[in-house]
Amino acid sequence: MAPGAGGKIIVIGGGLVGVCTAYYLSKMGRQVTLLEQRGIASGASGRNGGMIMKIDGRDTDPSEIIKRWPYVRENDRLLNGLVEEFDDDFGIMRRGSLDIAFTDGEVDLLRRLTKMQRQETGDDEIQYLDGRDLRELSPLIDKKCLGARYRPSDGCLFPFRLVNAMCRKAAEMGAEILSWTKGEEILFSNGRVTGVRTPGEIIDTEAVVVAANAWSSCLVPEIPIVPLRSLAVLTEPVPPVPVMTFEAELKGKIIYGCTQTERGNILVGGPPEKPAARDSQFDEGVSLEEMRVNSSIIPELFPQLRNVNIIRTWAGTMGATPDGLPCVGAVGKYDGLYMAAGYSNGMSWGVVTGKLLAERIVEKESSIPLNTLDPNRFEKMVFNWPETYDYTILADYLGRAG
Ligand SMILES: Cc1cc2nc3c(=O)[nH]c(=O)nc-3n(C[C@H](O)[C@H](O)[C@H](O)COP(=O)(O)OP(=O)(O)OC[C@H]3O[C@@H](n4cnc5c(N)ncnc54)[C@H](O)[C@@H]3O)c2cc1C
Repeated sequence: MAPGAGGKIIVIGGGLVGVCTAYYLSKMGRQVTLLEQRGIASGASGRNGGMIMKIDGRDTDPSEIIKRWPYVRENDRLLNGLVEEFDDDFGIMRRGSLDIAFTDGEVDLLRRLTKMQRQETGDDEIQYLDGRDLRELSPLIDKKCLGARYRPSDGCLFPFRLVNAMCRKAAEMGAEILSWTKGEEILFSNGRVTGVRTPGEIIDTEAVVVAANAWSSCLVPEIPIVPLRSLAVLTEPVPPVPVMTFEAELKGKIIYGCTQTERGNILVGGPPEKPAARDSQFDEGVSLEEMRVNSSIIPELFPQLRNVNIIRTWAGTMGATPDGLPCVGAVGKYDGLYMAAGYSNGMSWGVVTGKLLAERIVEKESSIPLNTLDPNRFEKMVFNWPETYDYTILADYLGRAG
């Protein structure tokens, strides 16, 4: 039976992307089994800052900005619809997002990027704030912040609530959720998917969606997705700090993201202290030094918060692709093999790409074309990935802006 004709579909991965795909497939009447090797949201989806931003990175090529825009805009629209449908706001707080400039060079760049985004996408919300306007909006921010790109309706959400709500709804619609069940191997016969081997059994199927993000290359090695470790520290709750959702590039190379939760805890995300080999990118422990460096961004940007206590720290691993965009769609030469993986900022993409992939599988076409995200787009390229790496080294190697 062709995958579009009604057979069972196995989704591998119980993060935001896997559960969203399972939810939309179930909604379209398909029988779904979701395999998660640990607990639901135990990967990056349960370890992130929940930032939902429609500005991402600092690509200066307008075509890169245009590529992302239709997806992140639709993701936001769908999220708002889910809030109504589920009667749950998933802890969404739309208090705006900032991308902060510390040098004159960054001021020029962010001004230029703001203008470009307005022109190329029609995004009439994005604006550039100079230092005075920035401090008026967010009075605690240090004077070394010279300005920022600002989008008022961006913000953050509580990822656990969103992932678990999507998962529960998928189950209510009939999806079978098998946590602590690893998809060990995808089985093929004559170029067609026939099943998935788990530790206990072989589950027959005509279609598999690999939504294993950082772990995807264990199942589909031909698609170049590399694991990338990232850290988080969480403070005790403090009163609301206006526009706490931000990205910043500090000390010339480091990318930080920061949010404030509904309860007031500040969550700082950042890169590890040192580059690491591929296997070590899955290390979920955090050293004291990593915690110290990562949390130092708080007093550096918000001196009045210098005595706030750190209460938790953890690490997580996301999937990175050569062009920074996820891989969503059918995988090359196999019938019935699909993928939705390679997300380094999946909170702004997970819902929409789960829906579009479900449409692609069931209806053969998606309401927004997935060509830009075609998993096979790197087919003819060879990547000699650095042996040890972090975000900055990867970006340098790929010739990408942060
Ligand atoms: C510290 C940190 C901060 C971040 N902050 C943000 C942020 O603020 N905003 C944002 O948009 N993004 C952020 N990200 C990135 C974001 O978390 C990811 O892009 C997103 O969660 C990806 O979702 P996913 O479902 O694709 O992957 P995951 O949530 O990692 O899910 C993949 C799942 O697949 C499972 N799996 C793997 N292999 C198998 C197998 N063989 N069988 C069964 N199950 C398997 C894993 O256990 C995992 O649960 C952050 C990431 C980290 C680590």
